[in-house]
Amino acid sequence: VIETDSRVNQAALNFIANGPKHLLIDGHWVPAVSGRTFDVIDPATEQVLTRVAEADKADVELAVQAARRAFEHPSWATMSPHAREACLIRIAELIEANAEELATIESLDNGMPMGMAHFSVTAAANTFRYYAGWPTKAYGKTNPTDGSSFSYTLREPIGVCGAIIPWNGPFMFAAWKIAPAIAFGNTVVIKPSELTPLSILRLGELLLEAGLPAGVVNIVPGYGQTVGAAIVEHPDVDKIAFTGSTAVGKGILRASADTMKKVTLELGGKSPFVIFPDADLDKAIQMAVVGFTGNSGQACTAGSRVFIHESIYEEVAAKIVAIANQLVIGPGLNPATQMGPITTEKQFEKIESYVAIGHADGATLAAGGARVGTKGFFIQPTVFTHVTNGMRLAQEEIFGPVVALIAFTDEDDAVLQGNDVSYGLAASIWTKDLNRAHRVASALKAGTVWVNTMYEMDPISPFGGFKQSGLGKELGAESVDAYTQIKSVVVRY
Ligand code: NAD
Repeated sequence: VIETDSRVNQAALNFIANGPKHLLIDGHWVPAVSGRTFDVIDPATEQVLTRVAEADKADVELAVQAARRAFEHPSWATMSPHAREACLIRIAELIEANAEELATIESLDNGMPMGMAHFSVTAAANTFRYYAGWPTKAYGKTNPTDGSSFSYTLREPIGVCGAIIPWNGPFMFAAWKIAPAIAFGNTVVIKPSELTPLSILRLGELLLEAGLPAGVVNIVPGYGQTVGAAIVEHPDVDKIAFTGSTAVGKGILRASADTMKKVTLELGGKSPFVIFPDADLDKAIQMAVVGFTGNSGQACTAGSRVFIHESIYEEVAAKIVAIANQLVIGPGLNPATQMGPITTEKQFEKIESYVAIGHADGATLAAGGARVGTKGFFIQPTVFTHVTNGMRLAQEEIFGPVVALIAFTDEDDAVLQGNDVSYGLAASIWTKDLNRAHRVASALKAGTVWVNTMYEMDPISPFGGFKQSGLGKELGAESVDAYTQIKSVVVRY
């Protein structure tokens, strides 16, 4: 019903209706070599939105050849840095000009509420804008010598970059990979998730409209074990930038070894959200709910373990339960929706299985736990109380709107429990004590720590996990190292 509502962006509906969508290879939209397509499902209705060409090894071969040609001849890397800057700015402007359409496509494909979809689209535009500043500022250095030689370094692009993207934030994560790669002169073969390829295909159209030369970015939707593996194993791909689960990330690291690819990995998380008794409790509680229900909990940085000081545990838990019970659940396109559907049936079933695991572990189900409606992958926000940090609920990434509320005794105990997990992606601390805020931020083993806030992202700030949450950094000045390599040159006079 919503999709036939005249207020819904018509350009987005036309884009989706105009299927099957093709692959972007060498500046052209082409069917897969095999001719195969796969269905893209609307998670709010379980209906087929459209069909997309299913790339495979042969398409990856063509895409890598195109990316190699664009890298070497004529070289995107040696194009004037000002020209590359201008191109990235045009891309940012086109994303902004088409924001409503892109957000609608993202919401339909992934299920996320429109507010969240707009957040992702804006974040993507900001990422291209941020990286537009870098082509003119990625320098080499001059080394000191005894005067009989000239020694310097060149900062060069790595080459053809394979980018592999998950389904939980496709548009934003695609921007996180494409923008830095092309800013520094690399070319890209990107594989969206087979579950949510649509917004990235629309981005491909905007890249061409912005004047990005053919072959600089190639888009090959398809399955991980076919297309993903073909990119990772291809000898002419120089770097892999992967965002996804820790299990698949480990396999990619192993598979990249044979061709010695440079690899950056953005992986899973089980982030602690720590509420001290001196916190602004109303704000902390509101944000704790956003922390585990934002994007239906399908966020790598989700605050899925909420640690509450024992003196306020019952009060805070009761309020979290009350807010969670009132959230409006519905299709992403419905303006009233606060939490959309789970993106895929498989993920929905995984979340249901963790509700059973929580029961079996002896935790108390205080809210939710059940399916909502009969069509679409909707589930209630689910709160487990009296969880201990050793339970599977607290140790394993569920990737759904399920939170474990855990009591702690003092600051040391909060840090000890917060760190007692194999992940280290993010953390959120709530306190008014400035000294405690800095102490705990320093003690927690996480790549991003938020104090009295949550989910604040800015391309200026580097992002990437500690421990089994990742390898290397994306965004920020640190990402220069992820997308360039240093050459030493010595000239003897
Ligand atoms: P996933 O690992 O199942 O898939 C991610 C991508 O890898 C998909 O495009 C998939 O097709 C591809 N893939 C699967 N098998 C592959 C293989 N053998 N070779 C190459 N590619 C392969 O992850 P998902 O379910 O799509 O996404 C959810 C996961 O992503 C969660 O664990 C979440 O925490 C993580 N994530 C991390 C971040 C971060 O920045 N750290 C951000 C978003 C999501």
